[in-house]
Amino acid sequence: MFHSARIKLTAWYLLIITLVSFSFSMVIYRALSIELNRVERMHKLRIERRLPNEPPRPFLLDPELIEETESRLKFTLTAINLLILTASAGAGYLLAGKTLRPIKNMVEEQGRFVSDASHELRTPLTSLRSEIEVSLRDRHLTYKEMKKILKSNLEEVDKIQKLTDHLLGLSRYQDGETKIDFTEINLKNNAEKAVAKITPLAKRKKIIIRTKLDDVKMKGHSISLIELCIILLDNAVKYSPSGKKIVITLRKDRKNAILKVRDQGIGIKSSELPYIFNRFYRADSSRNKDKIDGFGLGLSIAKNIAELHHGKITVNSLPGKGSTFIVCLPIS
Ligand code: ADP
Repeated sequence: MFHSARIKLTAWYLLIITLVSFSFSMVIYRALSIELNRVERMHKLRIERRLPNEPPRPFLLDPELIEETESRLKFTLTAINLLILTASAGAGYLLAGKTLRPIKNMVEEQGRFVSDASHELRTPLTSLRSEIEVSLRDRHLTYKEMKKILKSNLEEVDKIQKLTDHLLGLSRYQDGETKIDFTEINLKNNAEKAVAKITPLAKRKKIIIRTKLDDVKMKGHSISLIELCIILLDNAVKYSPSGKKIVITLRKDRKNAILKVRDQGIGIKSSELPYIFNRFYRADSSRNKDKIDGFGLGLSIAKNIAELHHGKITVNSLPGKGSTFIVCLPIS
């Protein structure tokens, strides 16, 4: 598809250049022919009107010479046109490739995204389907067993819902077309709302969340900033053993609001750090050994939210010691 689009675009470029070059050549040819004819006419006129005492003009302009000059002119212009067309075919092909490359990358990226999302959706759907099929076939299912199966079904539905929420979030913050209104906010309030949301989850794992939050006023999108804090706090709880501590701090320097979420969890290997903000990326430790639930979308949403506010998100982490996620957002 990319190749045929490239050829078509090159053909369009070539058509435009041909038209321009051909029109210019016609104009030049016409102008020079007119000029030649005028010179011939003038010369003839001067010879005819020669006064008797004037010395004779040396010769008449040969019409064959004029014709020859015209056909040489035609030949030169055709050669120049052919040269221009050959050069522009090559240049047009290169240029068309350059123009289409970002579109090609975007289409490939979309394709990867759809296939990753379908893959993630298939796992809970398959397990949901097989549970329902098995229970439908079993005629001696007790009420207690039925409830157990329904509970497990609900867990799978929950996973699907979480995934679709994440996918929606991702498209909302990534799509430059969607208009997101910024208002004057106090980032401290947003962080506090996120802490309140995650605290019950932390309590279940006997994890304490400490807060050190300064007042930081900035222009931003309140809901997405709460979501950003929730993602970081949720990960901190998810990837920490029970009984550990999480610290969330918020301060400001001259130009930026700096939000840090520090945990004492499993940490991330340095070889995996460059990839954790990629969509659907999950580090080995979370996918294999401990089987922690997740889709690998949280941090890419967090990154999109930070970028939406012209900020950035970074991480320092040591396996076995813990991780610190740092969000830096310009306040002006
Ligand atoms: P998810 O948590 O759903 O897998 P994320 O995008 O939030 O997806 O995180 C990507 C990966 O980064 C996780 O799979 C995990 O391996 C790693 N990670 C994120 N936060 C932490 C953390 N606080 N501690 C350790 N690893 C983390």
